[in-house]
Amino acid sequence: MDLTLTQEEQSFQDEVRAWLVENHPGREPDGEEAKFEFRRAWQRELHDAGWAGISWPKEYGGRGATLIEQAIFSEEMARAKAPSPANVLGLVMGGPVVIAHGSGEQKERFLEPILSGEEIWCQGFSEPESGSDLASLKTRAVQEDGGWRVTGQKVWTTYAHEAKWCMLLARSDADAPKHKGLTYFICDMDQDEIEVRPLRQITGEAEFNEIFLEDAYIPDENLVGGEGNGWNVAITTLMHERAGLGAASAITVRRELDELIALINERGLAGDPLIRQRIAEVKIGVEALRLGALRALTQQMKVGIPGPEGSLAKWEWATVNQKLTELAVDVLGPDALVPESEWAYRFLRARANSIEGGTTEVMKNIIAERVLGLPRLR
Ligand SMILES: Cc1cc2nc3c(=O)[nH]c(=O)nc-3n(C[C@H](O)[C@H](O)[C@H](O)COP(=O)(O)OP(=O)(O)OC[C@H]3O[C@@H](n4cnc5c(N)ncnc54)[C@H](O)[C@@H]3O)c2cc1C
Repeated sequence: MDLTLTQEEQSFQDEVRAWLVENHPGREPDGEEAKFEFRRAWQRELHDAGWAGISWPKEYGGRGATLIEQAIFSEEMARAKAPSPANVLGLVMGGPVVIAHGSGEQKERFLEPILSGEEIWCQGFSEPESGSDLASLKTRAVQEDGGWRVTGQKVWTTYAHEAKWCMLLARSDADAPKHKGLTYFICDMDQDEIEVRPLRQITGEAEFNEIFLEDAYIPDENLVGGEGNGWNVAITTLMHERAGLGAASAITVRRELDELIALINERGLAGDPLIRQRIAEVKIGVEALRLGALRALTQQMKVGIPGPEGSLAKWEWATVNQKLTELAVDVLGPDALVPESEWAYRFLRARANSIEGGTTEVMKNIIAERVLGLPRLR
């Protein structure tokens, strides 16, 4: 793994940096809906300038850039404190899954509106009784002439209230072994047979939802990767999710660490030995995360799809981000209790890091079995 940038990568970085100086959209507005629309407009701007789906192949509307260039882009976005695009799940998971497993027609139909942010995507995997053990899910898909009828309940579905399309995993064969009876669909959220109910989080935001499906219709052409092959397609989705979380977060965490060090200096606490110890611990974690994310990226460039190393980055990110935000709240003391406190928001939001995208315990199991080659649990 070579960590120095090539000449092309260096000029790519200069180009991104210069573009962001010219085009930064400014601070996000307050209010969930206003913020979302702001990020959708920002994504359109990124897309018009050729910065959406950077590492997607050119033939699918991307820039055909390398994953290193994608990482450079994310790093520059974080450095400039630019907002994330609205359609994160479409860009990080939906698009790559359609590119990897979708038919020619699906690529034609779905990719462009993902890039422009015109059609938002969500991920309908988790159910009330199936999170970590995803393959046990119960949402049922029954075939009819030309399509499928889907009935069941999903939960924790981020952005379902904004989404046009849902990456929906459902059981299409109740008699097959649990991993083999699943099929992956792209489900249209605009239908009366689907009800979306928001769930409010500890942060006060309602970022995710419950979804109730009652005979929701999905035409055959929206089935991805073949009937009964849903587990394989879902794994591709999860690998992209974890790799994406690890890589992007490594940069954000580094930026927030700098902010925390500035805060500690401002409050005259830089000489406190316990704080010094904790900051050193976070700093080491942040650096390990950065290097691990680069290693995962190198591996992905070799084999084409993200590997189980993404689970390591996801686990480390959750741990480091929670330690970082806990330290910030301790440094702030009662000042962290005011509702407008950015650190209090980050602290509360970080509680979800060790759950979302797969829990830390499950990441450890994956690393034990698939990275370290230890015996399987079951
Ligand atoms: C902010 C946020 C956003 C999310 N967005 C989405 C989304 O958009 N789409 C979606 O489908 N899902 C989403 N999720 C759901 C998320 O993927 C699940 O919460 C997660 O996979 C855990 O499942 P669970 O909540 O059912 O917990 P469970 O699986 O019931 O786990 C409960 C506890 O048991 C432990 N455990 C379970 N199995 C094992 C095991 N084999 N070994 C050791 N320990 C184990 C877990 O670590 C955990 O501590 C989101 C979650 C959060 C917090």
